[in-house]
Amino acid sequence: ADWAAAVAAVRGLPADARVLLICHVNPDGDALGSMLGFGLGLRQLGVRRLQATFPGPPEVPEPISGLPGMDLLVPEVDADPAPELVVCFDAASESRLGGLVDRLETAGAALVLDHHASNTRFGGINLVDPRAAATSVLAEELLTRLGVTLDAAIAECLYVALTTDTGSFRFEATTPAVHELAARLLATGIRPGDISRRVFDTRPFGAVRLFGEVLCRARLEPAAAGGHGLVWTYATLDDLTRHDQRPYVLEALIDSVRCTAEADVSCVVKQVRPAEWAVSMRSKGAVDVSRVAVALGGGGHRLAAGFTGRGTVEDVVAGIRTELDKALIEA
Ligand code: 5GP
Ligand code: MN
Ligand code: MN
Repeated sequence: ADWAAAVAAVRGLPADARVLLICHVNPDGDALGSMLGFGLGLRQLGVRRLQATFPGPPEVPEPISGLPGMDLLVPEVDADPAPELVVCFDAASESRLGGLVDRLETAGAALVLDHHASNTRFGGINLVDPRAAATSVLAEELLTRLGVTLDAAIAECLYVALTTDTGSFRFEATTPAVHELAARLLATGIRPGDISRRVFDTRPFGAVRLFGEVLCRARLEPAAAGGHGLVWTYATLDDLTRHDQRPYVLEALIDSVRCTAEADVSCVVKQVRPAEWAVSMRSKGAVDVSRVAVALGGGGHRLAAGFTGRGTVEDVVAGIRTELDKALIEA
């Protein structure tokens, strides 16, 4: 990772520099948390002309909408002059940035912070480490190298990012260094109980009932994935309408499906348009789901990946089945 170049790019900014922060479409806790935490750090360094944004509708999922630094978010970025620096968070490729790709090209410098193995190094400076548990790990290291002092606001953003991507310290990437980072963040006085309840354990009653309905229609296919098993379910736009819920409530659904003992691979197929589906996939280790996702036009990590599928639910699941056996990890 090119730390020296990244530090120089920030330190070398003129006093009145414009900095634009961007992250991937449909931002999750890591994308938004690392972006806003880094933004608050830049503000501490005296950067005043700061804007943060992400592609698509300017809607932030309710569970992460209370993050400090939300005032950095703008629905529409100033067109010119182009910023001296663009910093991009948690996006593996330019395809995850929608129309914001143009901003990368016109900026004075483009700095990419990410931890996807499939990252295409699309920045001028790339801080990309697939071993990092979250993009926020890289954001914190850069802030520290820049001389920023972690305060409670920065720490809350980075803690939400870290807990989101490590499944609250349950996943394999949870190294001693991850716990040491968590300790530094907690030392600022943030309240992990309150934060976790808000981010992970709060949803509207309508969403609880919607989950019930969608979980009831889950299918288990023991023969799939070379006998390792596939469990999958789907949610339609009509399901959302009937329960009066926003699409983002479905992001947590995969966590209720992936616990199925009889299946190594789990999928949730979420309708976003009549013939378009956002697919979430998880693996317990027998299958590299990022290979399945990449083959189907998406991306992600070995054990957590996704893509956009077309046609009917059956078409989408059939596509997954044909890729599963090719993505078996050799023991
Ligand atoms: P989730 O299932 O939580 O939405 O996404 C899991 C992981 O898969 C994310 O970390 C992200 O990297 C990746 N991912 C999900 N959807 C897509 C997609 O449509 N395109 C790409 N390239 N990656 C995706
Ligand atoms: Mn992400
Ligand atoms: Mn991430």
